[in-house]
Amino acid sequence: MAKYTPMMEQYLKVKEQAQDAFLFFRLGDFYEMFFDDAVLAAKELEITLTGRDGGIGEKIPMCGVPYHSAENYIQRLIEKGYKVAICEQMEDPAVTKGMVRREIVRVVTPGTVMEGKALGERSNNYMVCVTESGGMLALAACDLSTGELYLTSAPYSEEWLMDEVNIYEPSEMIGDGKLLELIASRSPVTGRKIVFTAWDRAKDDLVRQQFGEAEWARTTMERRVCVSRLLAYLHETQKRSLGQLTTISAYEPNHFMILDPFTRRNLELVETVRERSKKGSLLWLLDRTETSMGSRLLRRWIDKPLLSRSAIEERLEAVDKLYHQFILREDVRGQLKDIYDLERLVGRIAFGNANARDLIALKLSLARIPELKQLCSESPSATLRSIADTMDECADLCGEIDKAIAEEPPVSVREGGIIKAGYHQRLDELREASVNGKRWIAELEAKEREATGIRSLKIGYNKVFGYYIEVTKSNLSALPAGRYERKQTLANAERYITPELKEKETLILEAEDQMVDLEYSLFSELRAKLNGEIQRLQKLAEQVAEIDVYQSLASVSAERGFVKPEMTDGYDFKVQQGRHPVVEAVMKDGGFIANATGLEKAAARILLITGPNMAGKSTYMRQVALIAIMAQIGCFVPAAKAEVPILDRIFTRIGAADDLIGGQSTFMVEMADIQVMTEKATARSLIIIDELGRGTSTSEGMAIAQAVIEYVHDKIGCKALVSTHFHELAHLEESLHSLRNYSMAVQESGDKVNFLRKLIPGAADSSYGIYCARLAGLPDVIINRANGLLAGFEQAAAQVTAGVEAAAQVTAGVEAAAGSDAGQMPEAREIPAAGLQFDTDSKNHQENRN
Ligand code: ADP
Repeated sequence: MAKYTPMMEQYLKVKEQAQDAFLFFRLGDFYEMFFDDAVLAAKELEITLTGRDGGIGEKIPMCGVPYHSAENYIQRLIEKGYKVAICEQMEDPAVTKGMVRREIVRVVTPGTVMEGKALGERSNNYMVCVTESGGMLALAACDLSTGELYLTSAPYSEEWLMDEVNIYEPSEMIGDGKLLELIASRSPVTGRKIVFTAWDRAKDDLVRQQFGEAEWARTTMERRVCVSRLLAYLHETQKRSLGQLTTISAYEPNHFMILDPFTRRNLELVETVRERSKKGSLLWLLDRTETSMGSRLLRRWIDKPLLSRSAIEERLEAVDKLYHQFILREDVRGQLKDIYDLERLVGRIAFGNANARDLIALKLSLARIPELKQLCSESPSATLRSIADTMDECADLCGEIDKAIAEEPPVSVREGGIIKAGYHQRLDELREASVNGKRWIAELEAKEREATGIRSLKIGYNKVFGYYIEVTKSNLSALPAGRYERKQTLANAERYITPELKEKETLILEAEDQMVDLEYSLFSELRAKLNGEIQRLQKLAEQVAEIDVYQSLASVSAERGFVKPEMTDGYDFKVQQGRHPVVEAVMKDGGFIANATGLEKAAARILLITGPNMAGKSTYMRQVALIAIMAQIGCFVPAAKAEVPILDRIFTRIGAADDLIGGQSTFMVEMADIQVMTEKATARSLIIIDELGRGTSTSEGMAIAQAVIEYVHDKIGCKALVSTHFHELAHLEESLHSLRNYSMAVQESGDKVNFLRKLIPGAADSSYGIYCARLAGLPDVIINRANGLLAGFEQAAAQVTAGVEAAAQVTAGVEAAAGSDAGQMPEAREIPAAGLQFDTDSKNHQENRN
């Protein structure tokens, strides 16, 4: 039977360890791929597929990329969501008899990339591990490029898991297969493509080693399981020590405001709904950070608004002082501007791939720190002063780099030119030798010219022949015989060497070789030394990022006329002249209309807002939510005055365009979300529902809307803003003592509706739907007929409303929706296809959520 060649045997053996990755198998100057890897890679990378005789008769598919440009190909595969295992030659082929040993040295995966485009400068790249044990869920999120590692856990809840995963937007996930499947089935919520790997190997000892016994001791069981698995995976794929992971940032979920994925999207906190771009989001508006780490920290703050009043006030204090001190702010910005991405620089130092330019970037950054520290310690802000108090300038490290590394070193660390003169005696001697040698050669050229009388004689150098004497053909006759040894013939010249030239050459080249080696080892030594100080640098990076975020929030607040919110432990949420920060900022004419908000225990907890389409209802409701979030991250708010209570959760149900998720009908999604809301909302939450009850028949929609509002009013007792086009619901103001009717004012003049965008007490008279239809130019016959029908419907609706009192006892909206008469809806004909599977859908969905 035909057998594979020994090389292919070796390949297959290595490939067994990297089943789920492309294997880049190093053969000389190329990384080669074989079999299915080759076929797929050729397609994905648009490179030529060839074949190789592997000993079995038929050709084995093969393709390859040159090793020096491999980085680019690897990145492209990673971006497409693949993993790449890199297999190197572990011995020098020149001195090895037989086959060289080959081993996988690293598996690059989407969640573990250390460089390149896949790492957005201003965003994190998280790898997330999720596990379940003893009825608890745990989640560990790690950004290997910055060295961040977050760890948390909670009692089993799929909602919690989805909320938390959504915050990190991981590019890769590992952990319990069951949980990963669940997340994958719901992943349309997160924007990014996630690569999933079920992973159950754990390495406790690694965690204890890396973070210490004390950390291990204070980590709960379920969290240990999770972080151990994450570290096992990182260890398995990276195959090196990960010195950048110095601390576990453990946190309790209930220390932060909860924002579910829909709410985060609907409020466009970090990206817009439509383009999924940062531009147009709250993050975009607030981001005036000068450093990448500041920008990433700002995003983390927006992702996790605080619940501790004192912590919020500490942040507000810094923002306040920077807000009012323009010069201080500008000075701080001036220092921050020149600080590079310390977190990622430090990540590369730990990972062992930092070059001399990275160290220069680190030095230049550290050089800004003393001034920054002084600005903070002399500032009027207690928050900034306390940062300055504990700020370690790392001046010693800055000094070390300055002493050793040349100001403009090359990218490569293996070609010399990186160490400064005067740093190391032996290196200086070698340099001297090389310089002397070169001088000697220059002098030789002059001497030879004189001796031979050939003025065009010159001494050159190339990699193959070393130094040589070159004489053009026309001058050959002038050369004395016997003194020169011919080495190479060109079209119009001959090249010669002499024994003494070769002797000097050996000296020069030896010196240069030694220099390059010595420089590399001096550089590595320094890098290793810095590696030992990583924790100090990371701490500093964190502080710089925090200062950067304060100045960013202060800058926007000052520029856009935001005010400091007054945080309270009470219930009431009162805003004077509130604005939607982003809508206001993008409006060209600056004509945004401010509106007040009053949600008070003793008066109105629920605002029922009516008004025609386009009147500004959803903008208003979003603005209230954004003001709360901005306040709780420690930012000033767009208002003339704001009294903000701490909200534990904001729940929104807004937006129409993108409701179709996983083929479910809009209505079904709404009901399922409302079910979650009824379960999770507390009196400290804020609920926002836009167009409640849309998507089913008028009477049913209205019935459900009323039932839900009553539940929120009587059972939850939280603050709520509800908009509806059922102006018939206005009567609720009479039965629900804490509900108030509001509407968005419009002015009719002749044929025109003028939107005033002013929130006024009282319900709107009609929803203007037919009015809009007329404005749109529909024929009079249709308009008149519609008016006639409307009158009839309204009569019928009034009867339903009367009957709804009984339904109001139903505890949850979804129960009403999934009730037995759902199949007999009068307008069943009009319900989209997905709506026909109403009953089953509803059950599945419920199970998913529980
Ligand atoms: P609705 O939810 O009532 O249909 P929107 O909130 O979507 O209305 O508002 C429609 C448009 O009106 C928005 O795109 C926005 O440009 C503008 N708008 C909303 N509120 C205001 C306001 N307070 N001042 C100025 N323009 C506004």
